[in-house]
Amino acid sequence: MHPVDEIGDLFAGEGAQDYLGEPVSVAVHMRQAGALAEAAGAPPEQVAAALLHDVGHICGGTVSGRELMAGHDNRHGDAGAAWLAQWFGPEVSEPVRLHVAAKRYLCAVEPGYFSKLSEASVYTLSVQGGPMDRAEAEAFAALPHAAAAVAVRRWDEEAKDPDATTPEFSHFRDLLIRLTAAG
Ligand code: FE
Repeated sequence: MHPVDEIGDLFAGEGAQDYLGEPVSVAVHMRQAGALAEAAGAPPEQVAAALLHDVGHICGGTVSGRELMAGHDNRHGDAGAAWLAQWFGPEVSEPVRLHVAAKRYLCAVEPGYFSKLSEASVYTLSVQGGPMDRAEAEAFAALPHAAAAVAVRRWDEEAKDPDATTPEFSHFRDLLIRLTAAG
């Protein structure tokens, strides 16, 4: 099976579970994030990173959202990035790895950002280490894929709308297949 179809099966299976108490499933959340990136005119690598940013929650071997809410940081960014790096280049996998850190970064450098977080995301922020301090934020901003990770994070925050019309996974299939060939 092509890896992209393997990912599609995850969206249809594991992805149907609740997303950390949000009003949409993990799969709908990720498809909305991918659609927002596409609507923003982002390059294909960032559309893919947005679409796949939470794949670490559903690609196996990690704790469930409910367990995360109970106080465990499952490092889903690292898990997802390592899994994706089998097929995709760092322009896709690194923003995925860094999207949790990007929340801590944005809360440190943008005064209004914290208020954009959902209740569940405020809770996981505390588990993930809280807002970065100045030195951490400077180190983060200097990372090669920091800007893409911040972009993915902003779409992540927005992609929790139960009333939005959300494209199916198949909408993104060709884009992903082109990127796996390149990665
Ligand atoms: Fe997310």
